Amino acid sequence: MQTAIIIVAAGRGTRAGGGRPKQWQALAGRPVLAHTVAAFRAVADLGPVALVIHPEDADLLQAAAIGDVIVAHGGATRNESVLAGLEALVPHAPDAVLIHDAARPLVDAAVIGRVCRALQDHDGAAPALEVTDALWRGAGGLVSGTQDRRGLWRAQTPQGFRYDAILAAHRAHRGDAADDVEVARAAGLSVAIVEGAERNLKITRAEDFARAEALMGGQMDIRTGNGFDVHACGPGDHVWLCGVKVPHDHGLVGHSDADVGMHAVTDAIYGALACGDIGQHFPPSDPQWKGAASEIFLRHACDLARDKGFAITHTDCTLICERPRIGPHAGAMRAALAGIMGLDPDRISVKATTSERLGFTGRGEGIAAIATATLVRS
Ligand code: MG
Repeated sequence: MQTAIIIVAAGRGTRAGGGRPKQWQALAGRPVLAHTVAAFRAVADLGPVALVIHPEDADLLQAAAIGDVIVAHGGATRNESVLAGLEALVPHAPDAVLIHDAARPLVDAAVIGRVCRALQDHDGAAPALEVTDALWRGAGGLVSGTQDRRGLWRAQTPQGFRYDAILAAHRAHRGDAADDVEVARAAGLSVAIVEGAERNLKITRAEDFARAEALMGGQMDIRTGNGFDVHACGPGDHVWLCGVKVPHDHGLVGHSDADVGMHAVTDAIYGALACGDIGQHFPPSDPQWKGAASEIFLRHACDLARDKGFAITHTDCTLICERPRIGPHAGAMRAALAGIMGLDPDRISVKATTSERLGFTGRGEGIAAIATATLVRS
């Protein structure tokens, strides 16, 4: 049975604060939505992922480096957004579909597995938790009555359905609905309740970010790597430093473009991954890297980090030279690295120091760079 995923991420919810919709805000160093997609990717045997986003969020999606997904544009209501996701899956004709809120990034394989197994015997299945607190009605700040909690459940997602049945149900549905279970039931489908999980919380308010990060904390894998590089000065009229061409009365000698800063950052990422260094991935003996733009190396290190499940959350690079002056170019260097690495510039530091005219950098014989990178497994 092929099971596709729809992740609904079109909401504009700003109750969580932070200036952008909550699904695009950072949780443990990467957007909430990236965690949510990764949670499903971690489960074997699931089919294509359709992401329903707001049309204005295309840039945020690109920056989130989420990988291969089917993108659909959401409508004015949640129902319209889910329908857009379902329609986008028509060419893939899955047997079943799991519909999930982007704001539940801590969903795990156990919950997903229970929903999938229940779908073998039911039109639909969804996780929920029994209500255990006493329930009140209230008005004007006073308790006005109590509510029997027996038979009441707190609904979660992913809510799973036979694809053809939920597609027909959504196409026929008119008006609003609390969730897809309501749409399914209105169409006469039966929906089984499976056990949810407390950690499968929905991020709604600002404090939920701290709660989610605390829940993730027990499994956090944070790595710091360092990189160091030197290139000798030679003839030329410019140097490449951290992706920026800086006019100078010398060049730098190297097999590639000799971007000493970008090489140090790249090696710091390889170091955090314990995956060798630039020379190992791009041997100087291989003529295809002669004169290569160092961006190729940095992109490779960033892709490797993502493939291994890590988000790069910060890098700091110090260039060591008397000249050229780095300060006037530091902003452009941060922006260049940010573009290649898919990070906000405020997570990238480029600074410089001299060596007080001492040593090879002090004599202007070469430029050195040292860098650190911090990676977090997501
Ligand atoms: Mg180098």
